[in-house]
Amino acid sequence: MTILLCVSNILTYALIEYPYFELIQQNSKSKISFTLILAIFYAFAFISGFYASYIDPEDHIVQEQILCQKTGEKFDDSPYEYYCHVCKVCVNDGSKHCKECNKCVLKFDHHCRWLNNCIGAKNYKPFIVFIVSAEAGLIFKFVVQVIGCR
Ligand SMILES: [Zn+2]
Ligand SMILES: [Zn+2]
Repeated sequence: MTILLCVSNILTYALIEYPYFELIQQNSKSKISFTLILAIFYAFAFISGFYASYIDPEDHIVQEQILCQKTGEKFDDSPYEYYCHVCKVCVNDGSKHCKECNKCVLKFDHHCRWLNNCIGAKNYKPFIVFIVSAEAGLIFKFVVQVIGCR
């Protein structure tokens, strides 16, 4: 999904926006700098978006308990007061089971359809970078077009 988003964004830029810049901006030096700044925003959005979708946000104690169940070891669940009835294991405070991912996510925020992953404690930072850089790229494009129309 992230790759699809980035490809569509780059295609829109190449097919619609770059020729548009060419129409409104005759100065090739500023055109190159616009392209470069946009490319930096896109690169940030792509890398952080890919990273946020790549990280597994699952609560780490879930896998520890599954491993203990397999090996027959005893897992000390006394510090944990929350229990997931789907995974049938103890979870940390703030963890929530995601129906889409079918796993318990540590400090669950939401399930992101664009990244096809849950956003939680483990991938919150790259997710914020993804949102900010994508928004900054959009605002930058908007400002350039408004200035260019004058
Ligand atoms: Zn669960
Ligand atoms: Zn999810």
